[in-house]
Amino acid sequence: MIPAAFEYTAPDTLEQAIQALADGGEDAKLLAGGHSLLPLMKLRLAAPTLLVDLRKLPGLSGVEQENAHWRIGALTTHSTLEHMPELGLVSEVAATIADPQVRHRGTIGGSLAHGDSASDLPAAMLVTEAEVTLQGPDGQRTLACAELFEDYLTTAVGEHEVLTEVRVPVLEGYGHSYQKFNRRSEDWAMVGVCAVVRASGGTCEDVRIGLTNMGSVPMRATAAEEALRGKQLSAENIAAAAALAAEGTNPPADLNASAEYKRHLATVLTKRAITDAVADGG
Ligand SMILES: Cc1cc2nc3c(=O)[nH]c(=O)nc-3n(C[C@H](O)[C@H](O)[C@H](O)COP(=O)(O)OP(=O)(O)OC[C@H]3O[C@@H](n4cnc5c(N)ncnc54)[C@H](O)[C@@H]3O)c2cc1C
Repeated sequence: MIPAAFEYTAPDTLEQAIQALADGGEDAKLLAGGHSLLPLMKLRLAAPTLLVDLRKLPGLSGVEQENAHWRIGALTTHSTLEHMPELGLVSEVAATIADPQVRHRGTIGGSLAHGDSASDLPAAMLVTEAEVTLQGPDGQRTLACAELFEDYLTTAVGEHEVLTEVRVPVLEGYGHSYQKFNRRSEDWAMVGVCAVVRASGGTCEDVRIGLTNMGSVPMRATAAEEALRGKQLSAENIAAAAALAAEGTNPPADLNASAEYKRHLATVLTKRAITDAVADGG
């Protein structure tokens, strides 16, 4: 339970942080809320030689609306998101993460950069079609969240890059729902399904469905989406679409559930999420 020895620095500027990362080499790591990295270090599953703490960096925390987007600073905590219902799905999802202590320390940037497919926010980023801003020694780049998650705990964030901001489109006219299934409240999701639906006169104009913990990366349930888009939002059509939710998934079996049970859960939760999102949208 005691991590290996490491050096620590808390730079005052983003430029200094990037420089410290580059100087620290491949074993330097950024530290945000510490609620994913520190447990790994205590278990000796990670042994960085240098921690570059982001806490003093100005301008990386907070949420503001800019035209049709929410700009969310990377150091914005889950708790801040939870208490902004105007963020829609993102707020609903953040409220389901762990317990208040974790939500007060954990950050959206840390959650996305960590790349755990059992985390709750990544699937919501796919559904909202959000993008991230990355700053590194060679400058700034933006990346769609659909390109961010590469494999289990592996993302496209470069070794010396800092994820500085998340841009989430404002989803006007969409209802939303997150269905997180776990054995005890505050646990990680056994399976999670988020959905946003835009309807007109009872017809599905658009539906987007995101799956948590159904593979090595968060994913969209595209077969289910395609089956419902343009159709009447009847109970039969929703059930038929939801039955396709596990297509193309490869959920990890664990102590709580077999892969087969998770696939079944995905279909049940998708039906609930779509139904709930339709009701939410009015
Ligand atoms: C008991 C417990 C229960 C939890 N339950 C859940 C849960 O139910 N659902 C859920 O989604 N999460 C859960 N978490 C994880 C929690 O949400 C984490 O806080 C979050 O995933 C990581 O954010 P962080 O700010 O703590 O990142 P850190 O732990 O500080 O960092 C995580 C990783 O991301 C990198 N990193 C951090 N910030 C940046 C950045 N700005 N740019 C580039 N790289 C960066 C770090 O170098 C590190 O590799 C739980 C954690 C604990 C301890």
